[in-house]
Amino acid sequence: RMDDIASPRRTKEIIQRHGFSFKKSLGQNFLIDQNILGKIVEAAGLDASKGALEIGPGIGALTEKLAREAGAVTAVEIDQRLIPILQEVLEPYPHVRIHHGDVLKTDLGALFREDFANVSKVSVVANLPYYVTTPILMKLLEERLPLENIVVMIQKEVAERMAASPGTKDYGSLSIAVQYYSEPELVCIVPKTVFIPQPNVESAVIRLKVREQPPVEVDDENFFFQVVHASFAQRRKTIANNLKTRFFPKEGRERLEELLHAAGIEPSRRGETLSLQEYATLCNVLLRAGV
Ligand code: SAM
Repeated sequence: RMDDIASPRRTKEIIQRHGFSFKKSLGQNFLIDQNILGKIVEAAGLDASKGALEIGPGIGALTEKLAREAGAVTAVEIDQRLIPILQEVLEPYPHVRIHHGDVLKTDLGALFREDFANVSKVSVVANLPYYVTTPILMKLLEERLPLENIVVMIQKEVAERMAASPGTKDYGSLSIAVQYYSEPELVCIVPKTVFIPQPNVESAVIRLKVREQPPVEVDDENFFFQVVHASFAQRRKTIANNLKTRFFPKEGRERLEELLHAAGIEPSRRGETLSLQEYATLCNVLLRAGV
């Protein structure tokens, strides 16, 4: 029986035989560690009734493990040079589909209807290209795809920001955006040595349990995120100062302070201390006051 694709020996063999050279600009760091791959797949909670969407399969290290657990696997890879390699090495797994394309430009709704018609639930499982981590995750969450979990390897710092609680230095608009759509949980920290080539940064696996409903009610999501972004525009400033700059540039402070009090928020607080619920209340108070 052949070694797994992710074994260092087979990875080197595939790369050499195809004359493949890594492109740093595409975030190509391939996994060669069975233990980490096992942890990623386990965190997704797959079985034969479920589907997995992989973003950036590389030469198929993770894809092969997903194929052994899930009933349907679809992988989207931007690098045309990898497509014939993937077709060759994943040939033993007929329920795996490879798409060539940029995931950011892919109509994922259509892809789900096509490829996941026969599975009950779908999770995204990926070792993401780090240069586009946030846009990819925000696309997956904002498009409200019918997802169960998103289990991804990302930069450690980004994972910590996504999972951060109010009042910590890592808490910011990314934490709030991710936590509005999902429940994040750090699965493990990953050393550089499990990749070839090794990345310059430390990595972590994070699981986002996608929520069926947001945990708070906001009258207008777009405005909610505008309020959040404005509140973190200058981290060292108070919430009142940040909101004034963005929404009340020409007015005195009285009305803004009244509205903040109506939302139960002291104007002297900083944006990083407000919970998701406090941001939701603030958003609705401002909206209802015609801001
Ligand atoms: N899954 C493989 C593994 O773990 O060994 C490879 C992971 S590597 C960190 C990221 C992969 O994403 C590369 O294969 C890269 O070509 C691909 N990629 C980069 N940008 C992409 C994009 N916008 N859409 C789809 N795939 C992309």
